[in-house]
Amino acid sequence: MNKSKKLGINSICVHVGEVKDEQFKGAISPIYMSTSYAFDGVDVKRYPRYLNTPNQEMLCKKIAALENTEDALIFSSGMAAISNAMLAFLKKGDHVIIQQVIYGGTYNFVVTEFEKYGIEYSFTESDKADDFKALIRKNTKILYIETPSNPLLGITDMKAIADIAKDNNIITMIDNTFASPINQNPGEFGIDIMLHSATKYMGGHSDISAGAVAASKEHIAQIWKTAINFGGNLSDQTVWFLERSLKTMNLRVKEQTKNAQIMAEYFENNADIDRVYYPGLKSHPQYEIAKKQMKGFGAMLSFELKEGIDAMKFQNSLEFIKPSMSLAGVESTTVSPTQTTHALLSEEERLERGIKAGLIRFSVGIEETEDLIADIEQAILKAKK
Ligand SMILES: *Cc1c(COP(=O)(O)O)cnc(C)c1O
Repeated sequence: MNKSKKLGINSICVHVGEVKDEQFKGAISPIYMSTSYAFDGVDVKRYPRYLNTPNQEMLCKKIAALENTEDALIFSSGMAAISNAMLAFLKKGDHVIIQQVIYGGTYNFVVTEFEKYGIEYSFTESDKADDFKALIRKNTKILYIETPSNPLLGITDMKAIADIAKDNNIITMIDNTFASPINQNPGEFGIDIMLHSATKYMGGHSDISAGAVAASKEHIAQIWKTAINFGGNLSDQTVWFLERSLKTMNLRVKEQTKNAQIMAEYFENNADIDRVYYPGLKSHPQYEIAKKQMKGFGAMLSFELKEGIDAMKFQNSLEFIKPSMSLAGVESTTVSPTQTTHALLSEEERLERGIKAGLIRFSVGIEETEDLIADIEQAILKAKK
């Protein structure tokens, strides 16, 4: 199917990019595991690292349809997608402006690798568009954003960023992992390149490591030229699993998003919780921007336990909500940023970033919210003792 724009979101998830089983007429895509394809003089030379095996090629069509872009590429991890995409547009002497609050792996990539290549970078002081504007230099090539951001669910105004970039002939990239293509399509606001850790909502079952990039044909062609050198391709078996997962992505993410709104409102009215961070709450400082640019407010939220309730004890007392480093599966999980993602910072540095000891990031799953609430209430009681 190639008339993807006319299809509804569930139809895209299920049908776009199916590999047709011509031989046996099976209902689902067969897996082509071959690493070797006939060279018959035609211009398509299929090879896994060229990101064009039958399963890779077809899955890219589904991802492009989901982000409503011309083209897409898939990688072996979110970081492979992010690093390949950035390096494809950068050379020695170029400059990148990066949002202050971004995924830790991306931050590490920038601060440990860019200097080796002679690439300059600046981090903004906030997620405000004016901050990006002030940092633009003659050699600035990329504005890099992430919204909603981790762990406080900050919202960056995508259109404002895209407008500034266009005025200055700069490429914009977004890490769209937290929203997923179900809740946010940044291309609609003028963002050029959408990056995903497909390990998260696209996979959705905490059992696949993958990454994706969606953009125009021209931008994807440029990223492809770098990608074949770095070799971060995904195995066809995992490509197949990712295709299967994507069939239910809209159903999963919609349910998770609905649950997140209920949970956020529950936390807001809970006397044991100091503060809730969720873009779907009117109390969120950038609620109006979120409403303008998101189709749904996502399934990630954070909350602060009141002083006297120990964050570790709370998490260890949960019965089925799992403390977990990762996120976005159909199962609800929590993480304490102080103990994990931000453990290497001093308490002062953490507080500067708004991360208090009682902060819990909550990845909301598909379980019934009554069950989630019951589990949280009994864990709070235990953590108070
Ligand atoms: C997990 C994650 C990544 C990195 O993805 P991997 O698949 O682990 O490489 C990037 N950005 C965000 C927002 C993430 O949550």
